[in-house]
Amino acid sequence: MAKDGEDTVLSTDALPPHLTYYYGIGHPNFEPFDAARGLEYQPNKNMISSHRFEIKVPASPVAKGLIVNVALVDGVVASSKEEYGLGPVGVALDSVAIFNPLARPGDDIDKEKFTFDSYSAHPTPDGTYHYHQSSRGPLEVLLARGLTTSAVPGATLVELFGIMCDGTLVLGCTELDGTAAPETLALDAQGGHLSDVKDERGTVHFANRYHTHVCPSRPGGQRYTPEIQYYNACGR
Ligand SMILES: [Zn+2]
Ligand SMILES: [Zn+2]
Repeated sequence: MAKDGEDTVLSTDALPPHLTYYYGIGHPNFEPFDAARGLEYQPNKNMISSHRFEIKVPASPVAKGLIVNVALVDGVVASSKEEYGLGPVGVALDSVAIFNPLARPGDDIDKEKFTFDSYSAHPTPDGTYHYHQSSRGPLEVLLARGLTTSAVPGATLVELFGIMCDGTLVLGCTELDGTAAPETLALDAQGGHLSDVKDERGTVHFANRYHTHVCPSRPGGQRYTPEIQYYNACGR
């Protein structure tokens, strides 16, 4: 992490600190693919490799003024200029890349998810390992620092996954202070809303900040990372 003027530069090699099938047999962080989830789960053919990238998160993001409704959040790549781009558009707390939920043309995220490992992630053909949904990986970072109570998404005190290139935060079923996220009906079409993001002591870390709540365990809850870029600049 570094500062560029007021902005914050996050750089990473995108390598997960946790176990995954996608490191390949022989790597110390290799684990077998979790087949207990069902026969439909099969790994893709790709293996992890190191990919240095950075995002520059604006100190004061400027909203585009969008109403993030179902017409915008359509799950179709390149259907709107308001979408996040393909490739790394965010960084998770465990240094893994965050991608938008749009599969490349010809693919479908609801089919691709069957290639996700036990951390709900997979690598691209060039080896960039990434998330499209909630994962225990970032929560293990919070847990190791005593900032939450378990690493199980949907069942822990505080769920924070990462930040997108435009300054949008990605949380889970909770706010940063451990209170429950608003009901699904009170959120927009990608699980987002504006509020002060404050910790349990009441310290506001991001005032009136747009963020999304990925919470698939809740009926109608958001299942994937945000598709629509709420703020105007994606520094990457
Ligand atoms: Zn993917
Ligand atoms: Zn919230």
